[in-house]
Amino acid sequence: MPESPTTRLAIIGGGPGGYAAAFLAADLGLQVTLIDQEPQPGGVCLYHGCIPSKALLHVAKVLTEAQQAADWGIHFPSPQIDLEKLRTWKRQVVRKLTGGLGQLTGQRKIRFVQGRACFLDAQTLQVQTVSGEEEILSFTHAIIATGSRPATLPCLPLHSSRIMDSTAALDLPSIPQNLLVVGGGYIGLELGTVYAALGSRVSVVELTEGLLPGVDRDLVAPLSKRLAEKFHSIMLRTEVVDAKEETQGIRVILKGSEVTEPEQIFEKVLVAVGRKPNSEDLGLENTRVEVDRRGFISVDEQRRTREPTIYAIGDVTGEPMLAHKASHEGRVAVEAIAGHKVAFEPHAIPAVVFTDPEIAWCGLTETRARTEQRPVRVVRFPWGASGRAITLGRSEGMTKLLIDPETERILGVGIVGPGAGELIAEGVLAVEMAALASDLKLTIHPHPTLSETLMEAAEVFFGQSTHLYRPRRP
Ligand code: FAD
Ligand code: NAD
Repeated sequence: MPESPTTRLAIIGGGPGGYAAAFLAADLGLQVTLIDQEPQPGGVCLYHGCIPSKALLHVAKVLTEAQQAADWGIHFPSPQIDLEKLRTWKRQVVRKLTGGLGQLTGQRKIRFVQGRACFLDAQTLQVQTVSGEEEILSFTHAIIATGSRPATLPCLPLHSSRIMDSTAALDLPSIPQNLLVVGGGYIGLELGTVYAALGSRVSVVELTEGLLPGVDRDLVAPLSKRLAEKFHSIMLRTEVVDAKEETQGIRVILKGSEVTEPEQIFEKVLVAVGRKPNSEDLGLENTRVEVDRRGFISVDEQRRTREPTIYAIGDVTGEPMLAHKASHEGRVAVEAIAGHKVAFEPHAIPAVVFTDPEIAWCGLTETRARTEQRPVRVVRFPWGASGRAITLGRSEGMTKLLIDPETERILGVGIVGPGAGELIAEGVLAVEMAALASDLKLTIHPHPTLSETLMEAAEVFFGQSTHLYRPRRP
């Protein structure tokens, strides 16, 4: 009988949490085994999430800008969409990045096993490899980074090619004439934007009273306005109560205060109502790892579970379910395993919705400040006063700062407008570095750029914005 392999650190799941952890652990000199079902590391983010969706959103942006150019006297003919070529390009983007991660894994001498892992106890994993073999792997420490999967809706037919989750929608099987998007959150609005730009008539149903629940309403307003033009309909406070497949499509029964036509047929339906943690079928019952009632693994600041040898990071530990949060948690867990004094305690985890316009925020939000009854001064710089925004024909944006009225420290930043996702990084740095409004005001920003809106928002705080007359209130 061959001796079973052992590893210092076993990482289950090769997404942005798992691979970032594996790479740092190898850089720190630990012996690492990384296990994932896919042929290369990348996880949901690279194969079925962040990367393919952003590739398609880039295409949507090109199509939209070409249309908008008519306002400037530039007329392009209607676009011809070669769907197969578009799919190939998107696959190439994914292949390039996952291939790169595969190379980095090899260069760092990380052992990559393609298979499915399950705990036998707090120091042993059973791995079913894709080649059909079974490996028993002993470890000193393990990190669970198994991510999440789309939540489903019980009222929808189970096995219909007309019902898509985000993974199926990103495969771009076709451009449906009409598409129902269930869920007005990140995925619904990002992928709805892609399909609308490609020519689908998109309708959105959202259960709550507004798109992107939880996000500050003043940030969502410009997006809602633009989507009202791009989408066929947006039905708030609405849910799908029944659906069945017919020859022409999915017949859906809608219930809600904004529904004018309760029964409608859609060629395709995209379900985007949140994600569930992959914490089942992992053999956690053979360990002391605990999950909460929604299935998220409970962890402390070092990302240690209740089982001292096992850590957990990323989507499987809860919200926000974002790639960069997973990667940072992964690095903290590895440092803790390596014996360093660390904790995962960021002041600001940026969030970006890559719609058109983009919405980005970090640190304290107005919604949270209100709930916590925290005194805060909010200053806004409307992009109508930004030279750069006007050159782009996009003056609907807005940059706001949430500032501690006593210390004048920047506690939170919110931005809506094209490129908000890039601009928010400066806000994250300001919050993390405990910058004061005066720091941002005195930092010379290049002109003409959208980044100036952060500086001018800080100027608004002092009643001294160059391009906006807002005298300071006594
Ligand atoms: P994942 O990336 O989910 O990876 C987990 C991996 O574990 C998977 O490869 C899975 O196959 C593997 N696995 C699971 N169980 C086992 C097992 N038992 N054995 C072996 N392997 C296993 N986030 C952003 O920050 N920005 C974005 O723009 C963004 N866009 C998104 C768009 C879409 C359509 C979706 C669906 C998500 C998006 N996200 C985005 C969220 C982001 O993808 C996740 O937050 C991120 O991938 C979580 O990383 P993770 O490492 O926790 O797990
Ligand atoms: P979400 O939580 O962002 O949005 C789900 C939406 O569906 C919510 O608005 C919710 O109110 C609504 N909803 C729930 N049940 C419903 C029902 N029965 N009928 C109608 N509406 C219903 O979830 P998501 O869009 O599926 O995305 C999942 C997660 O993936 C996000 O929370 C985010 O963490 C991550 N993600 C991030 C990005 C990004 O960073 N740009 C992009 C995509 C996904």
